[in-house]
Amino acid sequence: MQGRIDRTLPTEGEMIVDPRTGRIRFSDEERVARRRAQAARNYQRDPAAFREYQRRFRERHRDRYRAHKIVGKRIERGQIIRPDQCERCHVHCEPEAHHRDYSKPLEIEFLCRACHKAADREVRAARRESAREASQAA
Ligand SMILES: [Zn+2]
Repeated sequence: MQGRIDRTLPTEGEMIVDPRTGRIRFSDEERVARRRAQAARNYQRDPAAFREYQRRFRERHRDRYRAHKIVGKRIERGQIIRPDQCERCHVHCEPEAHHRDYSKPLEIEFLCRACHKAADREVRAARRESAREASQAA
C-alpha cells in the first residue's frame, strides 16, 4: 500500500466545502482520481481477480452499465451534448447523466454531483413508496 494516496485528510488543493452539508470533503476530481488509483492498484495486485470483479459488477448492474455505455457513446459521437451546468441547480460543472429508469437509457437529466445524489435518493424513495402501496393493496 502506498500511504500517500490513502491519506484520509485532504490537503488544501484537494478539498472543497460541500455545498449541501457545509462540511469539508475531497473534491469530486480528487475522489475520482483516488478511485482510479485504487482500481489501478487492485489491478496490479491481481489482474485476473480484478477483471473477474469487473465482470461480476457489470453482470449485477447490467441495465445501469448498458445505459451508461449508450449515453457515453452518444456523447462521444456528439449526438448528445453534455451541458456545462446542472439542469436543476444550474451550478457550472461537468454534470453527470442521471437515469430515473435504466431501461430507458436515453431518458436522462444532466445533474451536478449533489443533485444527482439527491435525485437517486428520490428514485429510491419513490420505489420504496410504490412497493409499500403494492403490499398494502394486496
Ligand atoms: Zn445541481
